Amino acid sequence: MAGIGSTCTCKTCYEGWLSPRMRERLECSTEFRYELSLSLLRTQDDVQSDLPSGLDIDNVTVHRDAAYLPPPVRAKLAAPGGDAIYRGYVAVFKTIFDLIRDEDGKHAAGFPTVADVDADIAAPARPASAPIDPVHLAAYREAGGSALPALDCIVDRALEELSPLGREYSVESEYIDQVLGGADVGAECANDLNFALVREKLGLPRETAGPQFWKGMDARDPESDDEKDG
Ligand SMILES: [Zn+2]
Repeated sequence: MAGIGSTCTCKTCYEGWLSPRMRERLECSTEFRYELSLSLLRTQDDVQSDLPSGLDIDNVTVHRDAAYLPPPVRAKLAAPGGDAIYRGYVAVFKTIFDLIRDEDGKHAAGFPTVADVDADIAAPARPASAPIDPVHLAAYREAGGSALPALDCIVDRALEELSPLGREYSVESEYIDQVLGGADVGAECANDLNFALVREKLGLPRETAGPQFWKGMDARDPESDDEKDG
């Protein structure tokens, strides 16, 4: 239901701000982050005997997702014990995925906020589902980790990879176009690409931590004129 001052134009946005298409993008983004990091961990497990207990921080997936972590937490990933911290970070993505995929849950239509996810990882309401390991979650939280970097990563990756506003949209555009082209996604809405509103509602800072990582290696052509804010 759209309230006074709502930016919703489709009249179906969750609480007037989360459009069905935006939610679909966020859900896809959550699934991508989780599945990518999981496949990485499986690869790591296959060669574990050859590795120290630190994590391969130069791996592309680790590197990208870790870019959203506060620098002090990120620095601990490559040190002994870093593997458990990273697995805890992955468990936060899985927690968010579980929360939004629970059709009877309170986030079935909306999306959990930073506070919601922090509360859940502090005291999970569900039985731990693999690969969410309380030991890894604890290691992540003790290292200074919280829900915020994971949600920041999900929202920012949705913008960059799954929206036409993104620098890496070409990679996943066909996939998300197909998803959003489905009949059950609903009408288009002015909120469909309003990532700033989503960040505000989820309790994220206005600016993502991610782009700090991309500075100096930005794929966006600075001389291009066709990417002005519109
Ligand atoms: Zn709407």
